[in-house]
Amino acid sequence: MDVYSLPMTTRFRGITVREGLLLSGPAGWGEFCPFPEYDDREAVAWLAAAREAAEVGWPEPVRDRVPVNCTVPAVGPEQAQRIVRASGCTTAKVKVADAGAPLSGDIERVAAVRDALGPAGLVRVDANAAWDVDTAVAAIGELDRAAGGLEYVEQPCWEVEDLAAVRRKVDVPIAADESIRRAEDPMRVVRAGAADVVVLKASPLGGVRRALRIAEEVGLPVVVSSAVESSVGLAAGLALAGALPELHHACGLGTVPLLAADVVAEPLAPQRGFLSVPRVAPEPVHRAAVAAAPDRAAWWRDRHDRVAALLDAATGAGRVSTG
Ligand SMILES: [Mg+2]
Repeated sequence: MDVYSLPMTTRFRGITVREGLLLSGPAGWGEFCPFPEYDDREAVAWLAAAREAAEVGWPEPVRDRVPVNCTVPAVGPEQAQRIVRASGCTTAKVKVADAGAPLSGDIERVAAVRDALGPAGLVRVDANAAWDVDTAVAAIGELDRAAGGLEYVEQPCWEVEDLAAVRRKVDVPIAADESIRRAEDPMRVVRAGAADVVVLKASPLGGVRRALRIAEEVGLPVVVSSAVESSVGLAAGLALAGALPELHHACGLGTVPLLAADVVAEPLAPQRGFLSVPRVAPEPVHRAAVAAAPDRAAWWRDRHDRVAALLDAATGAGRVSTG
């Protein structure tokens, strides 16, 4: 088992280094990289996803490439336009409601992104659950005007009931991300009428097959996003996007450029707004170059072994051979 440590080009979720563990099996390579603050129980799904990739592989895809969005962090309007133009993407996801930042900055950024995309592009915004219902309704109205129409708003509020309340009050479609990913029961969002679109991630949901089952159960359009894995883990997200019966929206899988290094020779970075769907994860050839320090490697191996014990107890499975 190799533990990697990859510096990030952009601070994300408060981290500047992405760490994880690579394991291999008869079907190829898998990646186990739950964020450090997640407890062992929450990390079980991530290990199930890694084992699926390493041991059984993924279902047959129905498409060979997927469109991806570019991501515009809470930056000024000129930088926002540079990011959009450099990406070649026709869909942009714009971060809004950043802590302490005024709505006027979000409005400027969204208007600048629309300008850079042109009228045929799609602008979505992600509030990461920062608003209460009234703030969300007011902000969405203004951002929708500034964008000349938003594709959707991702996770305006934290509570499922609040998402549903906002959805009843605005015409802009609502996407659920955090409400699905960390929920015991993803169907709660559907029963509450809280979303028009769901964001699904292969690693936190327990792998490609489990995410496909959730997509089928939920019955709403899906946007597949990454958890900012290396190209090995990202490949599972691409396999999911490739295997969904229908794909109506660009995916949030263009995240490799957030990493300053990768474990593979040819990182899965988007080309002109698209990524190819791989049949297996790419071979991690740079494992020695990006190896984590011994204390971090030991931390990850301990974490892996604790989580594996939980997963094995839950599935009755034996221990996997790891590379
Ligand atoms: Mg999100």
